[in-house]
Amino acid sequence: MSTLIYTESTLNPAHAVYNYTLPAGEGWMYEIKQGQTFRIVDLEGNQAVDTLFYNAHDMADRYSAQDTIREQGGIYLTTGTRLVSSEGHVLLTITADTCGRHDTLGGACAAESNQVRYALEKRPMHSCRDTFLRTIGRWGRGVTKCDITHNINFFMNVPVTPEGGLSFEDGVSAGGRYVEMRAEMDVICLISNCPQLNNPCNAYNPTPVRLLIWD
Ligand SMILES: [Zn+2]
Repeated sequence: MSTLIYTESTLNPAHAVYNYTLPAGEGWMYEIKQGQTFRIVDLEGNQAVDTLFYNAHDMADRYSAQDTIREQGGIYLTTGTRLVSSEGHVLLTITADTCGRHDTLGGACAAESNQVRYALEKRPMHSCRDTFLRTIGRWGRGVTKCDITHNINFFMNVPVTPEGGLSFEDGVSAGGRYVEMRAEMDVICLISNCPQLNNPCNAYNPTPVRLLIWD
């Protein structure tokens, strides 16, 4: 694995205007205003935090893995990465990262991937796709199934092999590691704190994360 760069933040959690612990397997949807800083803390280590961002004023303008990868000329997300939308806007910029690498290729787990990757009887198990759908249903405001597109997996380690394959590996994160980003415009964040019980990325053990926002 290439060397990971760690960048710490100077922000004090005691000064955050929002501080919430999201249990393992739960969904979260929240508006983050332009200029605010958003931090996700991997409280116990190696948790996968499946995340999507939308332009708060136009949900059709949303995080685009393809545009983000092309613009930065790299496949992993870390400090300095600008999260680019499908309309070419910078939604957020990653400003601190004590994990060092986040995935945006692996996608979200779903009933279908549970079945294909693991076993037929894993199909009805909890998945991020189901959590996304439940969460947008609670949120309302016209968000639909077709707004669930290719996501970020914060703290997840999905290295690309020299042959070009994807390999789901043990996490590179640990308890207390975090990633922090500044909202460059008003954005809606949608998270599924991955409930997956079959993937080595989270050591088969989903755990809570903390979500903090500073003005
Ligand atoms: Zn998942």
